[in-house]
Amino acid sequence: MKILVINAGSSSIKYQLLDMADQQIMASGIIERIGEPNGSLAHKKFINGEEQKTVFERTIKDHKEGMHLLIETITSAETGVISDKNEISAIGHRVVQGGEAFRQATLIDESTKRAIEENNVLAPLHNPANLTGIRTAEELFPGTPNVAVFDTEFHQTMPPKAFMYALPYEFYTDLKIRRYGYHGTSHKYVAKRIAKAIDKRPEEANVITVHLGNGGSISAVQQGKCIDTSMGMTPLAGVMMGSRCGDIDPAISGYVADQKNLSAGEVDAILNKESGLKGICGMNDMRDIHESAAQGDERAKLAVDMFTYVVKKYIGSYFAALGTVDAIAFTAGIGENDDIVRAAVCTNMQGLGVEIDLAANEGRISSEKRISTEDSKVQVWVIPTNEELQIAKDTVAILEKQ
Ligand code: ADP
Repeated sequence: MKILVINAGSSSIKYQLLDMADQQIMASGIIERIGEPNGSLAHKKFINGEEQKTVFERTIKDHKEGMHLLIETITSAETGVISDKNEISAIGHRVVQGGEAFRQATLIDESTKRAIEENNVLAPLHNPANLTGIRTAEELFPGTPNVAVFDTEFHQTMPPKAFMYALPYEFYTDLKIRRYGYHGTSHKYVAKRIAKAIDKRPEEANVITVHLGNGGSISAVQQGKCIDTSMGMTPLAGVMMGSRCGDIDPAISGYVADQKNLSAGEVDAILNKESGLKGICGMNDMRDIHESAAQGDERAKLAVDMFTYVVKKYIGSYFAALGTVDAIAFTAGIGENDDIVRAAVCTNMQGLGVEIDLAANEGRISSEKRISTEDSKVQVWVIPTNEELQIAKDTVAILEKQ
């Protein structure tokens, strides 16, 4: 069974075609700058483990033209991996915000689309783009089932004491203000894999999943169910990120707006795009930051210290929330590649039963690997995430239920 996974943004479409017989990627790619003069498609085809890359540059008017190009590319003799688009059994769409309506992946029909649209207010940058991807796929793949897989669904098991904010209760009932959490597909995938890695069933394991990429979030997963997560109503909350501030005193927003004569929207843009690592040291990529820190840049050092300290604090608080912890899993760009960050987060945690093996931790890690010592009570692992595979698996599960 072949599943196409689509992640549609406002001016981009990321895709992956997977063969679920062996769960291997057949092709993947990204279409960027849709609607601008200098659009592009970067496509990779995988045959027997070999990767063949093609890049097209041309104007791509809209998502429909982008999706047409995608179909041509995956079916053409030169770049393709299938001969006809009808070989695709279903399309799995990443949808960012499912609100409280969606606790699991869902076959898309008119009511699903309406419900996704109702959540646009909670994710104005993402949900409308995700819907455009769905509508375009429906048009260009008539008769092929479409499934929505939500970033928020894994976190819907959080109890009210974890998802409610201490605000007037009507803010929750009238405005839907609550913690939703994001990166759910990654946390779900990694929580399952880490349970397997430590020889437990997901229902037997308490784990902390630490997703650190450009955006970052940490989840406490008790016996397979998320009980708390660091992102909030929006992906701005929680740990410090590339350009997002993470948790700050909520009074700061109003104070900055008054002092600098900015609108709420302008302050919001600063907190999302000019803060985090970038706000402290002017860079948002950890590789550049380590390089500068090594050359003595004090701001870069401070950024790393702040970043690793807040991650450590979240992990500590989830030990308290979970009671006992079997394992911690690091994932995503920084979690998988950055040994300095992992070491800084995990040192001085002996009191919690965490002992990192600095030799095992060294370097970039591209496959599942334990990085704690033999004696560490809590195992620490690097588990590379695979959100596309999780979306494809969830899509297959929905098809099988029909
Ligand atoms: P996204 O949230 O955009 O999906 P990724 O999970 O791909 O992000 O993570 C991207 C981030 O990972 C980069 O901004 C960079 O900070 C970090 N990163 C990638 N490779 C390395 C590396 N070798 N060492 C340290 N950090 C890295």
